[in-house]
Amino acid sequence: MDALVELGVITDADLLSPESVTWADLSRVHTSEWVEALTQPETLASVFAVDAWDIPSDALLDSLRRICGGTLLAARRALGEPGPVLNLSGGFHHAAPGSGGGFCAVNDIAVAVAALRESGFAGSIAVLDVDAHPPDGLASCLGTTAWIGSISGTMWDAPGHVDEVHVPACVGDGVYLAALDQLLQRMPRATITFVVAGGDVRAGDPLGGLGLTEAGVRQRDQVVLDALAGAPSVWLPGGGYRSDAWRVLAGTALVLAGHRRLELRADFDPMRARFRRVGRRLSDAFGGIELDAEDVDGLLGPRRDETPRFLDRYTRAAVELALERYGLAEPVRRLGYRDLRVEIDRAELGDRFRLYGTAAGVEHLLAESVLARGGVGETPVLFVHWLTLRHPLGAFRSAGGPFPGQEVPGLGLAREAGELHRRIAERLGLAGVAMRPAWLHVAYAVRHRMRFVDPQEQHRFEAVLAQNTGIPLSKLSALAHAGEALLDGKPWQWPAALMVEWLTLPPTA
Ligand SMILES: [Zn+2]
Repeated sequence: MDALVELGVITDADLLSPESVTWADLSRVHTSEWVEALTQPETLASVFAVDAWDIPSDALLDSLRRICGGTLLAARRALGEPGPVLNLSGGFHHAAPGSGGGFCAVNDIAVAVAALRESGFAGSIAVLDVDAHPPDGLASCLGTTAWIGSISGTMWDAPGHVDEVHVPACVGDGVYLAALDQLLQRMPRATITFVVAGGDVRAGDPLGGLGLTEAGVRQRDQVVLDALAGAPSVWLPGGGYRSDAWRVLAGTALVLAGHRRLELRADFDPMRARFRRVGRRLSDAFGGIELDAEDVDGLLGPRRDETPRFLDRYTRAAVELALERYGLAEPVRRLGYRDLRVEIDRAELGDRFRLYGTAAGVEHLLAESVLARGGVGETPVLFVHWLTLRHPLGAFRSAGGPFPGQEVPGLGLAREAGELHRRIAERLGLAGVAMRPAWLHVAYAVRHRMRFVDPQEQHRFEAVLAQNTGIPLSKLSALAHAGEALLDGKPWQWPAALMVEWLTLPPTA
């Protein structure tokens, strides 16, 4: 979504926000035993192939019900204003009435169809499944009440009513698109068509294995869209297991929006783009100065000259507004914290920001950072002296248990915090963001964007990681802290050396 907004392909007006479907909606498709089983973390764990203690089951079920609501809302919109509508998640084609599997716990398409039927929809339904895997769950949920056509790379015992085309592994664009062409000629013109536009057909997908190029997937989406000829359709992302699988979904949306030729640069980072966009919007709203402190104070209360400013610039209100606008407050609320409150003051090493939130009547510290203007050599940078992101209500979910020095689980917003630091540095005219990570695991978490200033330290850090792959990261971090990690067979002490991320080209010596 960030990619599409950033590219100017969609605006806020194009976005719909679904309601969750009810348990009764799920029960029209799924057996009462399966619906009840879903409330157990063990069931979800087996569907998603992880350990039960790794499943935030209530939050996950909320999401799944909302995704089903998205597929339903998309169907209603498509029927109301004929054309394609995309749900950003869904296409859970492996979920059957009484079982789930392959990352599919509930069948959003079947749940949406049942809800449409319940509200009197009598039209015909088609499902075109161009995910790399077969629509086994869909076939048993929908039976013969819908046409189901599919191209899969996996052999399965397709029931007679499914028009299944099996293609070999690494089939590539040419053969795949020819098979699709044939299938589309057999596809009936239904009142509404659901398209499972799986991203896992793309080359390099660890579970898909069909080997289509990014251009080939766009071509797939284009010929399906052409075949639908403006009839109502609901598009769903299905699978996609590369870390950049979002690119396929973004490509599908570009095709649906009539921009199939728009390229997504290889280094395009949607979150970074979103932060820049919000930053620009804030600048406009406050007369060319981002989050002008006095303006915000003027809006929110009487001006007090002693108002402390974070980094001599941002008032408390400005910081609170930034947390909202950059989309950091909402995920914190979703974790169960209310009445978010920001404090800013001076600490020994710099300016301190603290975020508090209340849960069950108790106020918790959720985030704390100490930032200051500093230097790497002669070059001015934003120095992060301290950063902690805390989720006191959460359960530890990493396999190695808590990291050393960690009392409570993290908020899961480290990347967002890093991006916010970049933006602050940029706004203050600083050349980069620097820190001295107190622990090896902290350096590990930022290793893709920050490097040690001293190339020798960078080299030793990489060597220690490479030589200790059998040890959980939390253990390695504790050993390094105690001077007991091994580097080239000798004990090695974590140096807490200076790391930096340059926003501009690094200064040359
Ligand atoms: Zn798949």
